[in-house]
Amino acid sequence: MESRIDRIKKQLHSGSYKLTPQREATVRVLLEHEEDHLSAEDVFMLVKDKAPEIGLATVYRTLELLTELKVVDKINFGDGVSRYDLRKEGAAHFHHHLVCIECGAVDEIQEDLLEDVEKIVERDWNFKVKDHRLTFHGICWRCHDKTEDKSENE
Ligand SMILES: [Zn+2]
Ligand SMILES: [Zn+2]
Ligand SMILES: [Zn+2]
Repeated sequence: MESRIDRIKKQLHSGSYKLTPQREATVRVLLEHEEDHLSAEDVFMLVKDKAPEIGLATVYRTLELLTELKVVDKINFGDGVSRYDLRKEGAAHFHHHLVCIECGAVDEIQEDLLEDVEKIVERDWNFKVKDHRLTFHGICWRCHDKTEDKSENE
């Protein structure tokens, strides 16, 4: 985690920004919750535990800055809430998401899987693919497993 923070620090420096203690606390929360898709408010609540003096506006500005520097990607799963997702190191393109319409779970697919589609788009549309967003909506494996047990409490 420390080396990851060092690399993010370098990314900030290359944009002439400093890793202030507030920014570092925000980055740490994102790293600790790498599997999650946190909203600005979620990040704020978690950062407050580490840095109680921090304000929502500071957290929000830090998240916007990290988005600009491509440390995080901003994503919306259709509920109108912007969520911040750490970009995987070395990944050329954004990972894909599986959003469960039953329980709301979000799983990630790290493999790109789209090489053939990208080739078709580049060839037939003369369009240079730089990135993409792909979200699948459906029923996750957990909810599949639950379908025999109808006694859901939510
Ligand atoms: Zn993600
Ligand atoms: Zn791709
Ligand atoms: Zn589910």
